[in-house]
Amino acid sequence: MSYSGTVHCSYCGKKGHNRLGCPEREKNAISDPESYDAKKWRAERERLKARVASRKCSYCKQGTIDGKGHNRKGCPVLKEDRKLVETRQIEYIEQFRTALQETGLSVGALVTVPDGNSYDDAGIWGRGFTSMVTSIDWSNIDFLMNDTKLLRDWRASSRNLLQTRVISSFGYCADDDDWRRSGRPNFNEVRPLTVSNLLSLMPSVFHELATNQDGHNVESRPIRLESPSHISPSSPSSDAEIINAPLNRAFQFVPMRRADSWEKVRRGMSDDIWSRVRPLEHADATAH
Ligand SMILES: [Zn+2]
Ligand SMILES: [Zn+2]
Repeated sequence: MSYSGTVHCSYCGKKGHNRLGCPEREKNAISDPESYDAKKWRAERERLKARVASRKCSYCKQGTIDGKGHNRKGCPVLKEDRKLVETRQIEYIEQFRTALQETGLSVGALVTVPDGNSYDDAGIWGRGFTSMVTSIDWSNIDFLMNDTKLLRDWRASSRNLLQTRVISSFGYCADDDDWRRSGRPNFNEVRPLTVSNLLSLMPSVFHELATNQDGHNVESRPIRLESPSHISPSSPSSDAEIINAPLNRAFQFVPMRRADSWEKVRRGMSDDIWSRVRPLEHADATAH
């Protein structure tokens, strides 16, 4: 291959294929099978076939299925996993939409959000703001919030699920120089609602352990619902938001460039990410 990325055939000199895939060479090899190059061509073909057959998939680690090797791109296991994850996620999106609508947290709802620190005298309600729900962030919402223990990932509780726009604020003082305190939000500023904010209002969409404070580290910072909105919430606008980035990361479907092999391999079936994606196999894997 040349530096420009175009393949040149050293047999016929044409572009777009190499010696092994050369149609002219194949034609000559077939019409004169006892020639030196015809024998060489057959040997090269056999070596390529053997290499393909022994190829190991970086996802399922199975070398062959039905006697044929495959790579990640052609992996039937990955393909089926993706489909099952998609099915579970579509089901969860409906569950989440219903919970939003029933709670009254659809677009247009007015909420008051605590923004103080628990270590302050005034507590989390020492400061805060009132804002209106403006959108649902489907790129951050997935069934792992329900199917897995949230404490597995400390970032999970600060995930932004809904966006709001600020209407008014209270309790902030102009001369506050404590860097740990967040600044006064401006009118119309975008502020998110996180897992911590919604945990106790919509317990049905989160893991049961997350709403049970015993032995759990997900901080609950419940908002106050001032004026509910029960309109039908929007769905994700594209397929990319169905299997979103957090799901891709958790299931290791699309590894990052230069990912290590353990970041590419299918996660073990005993992991609770599979609990409602492959319930029977997960139960088998976790049975003692
Ligand atoms: Zn050629
Ligand atoms: Zn595979």
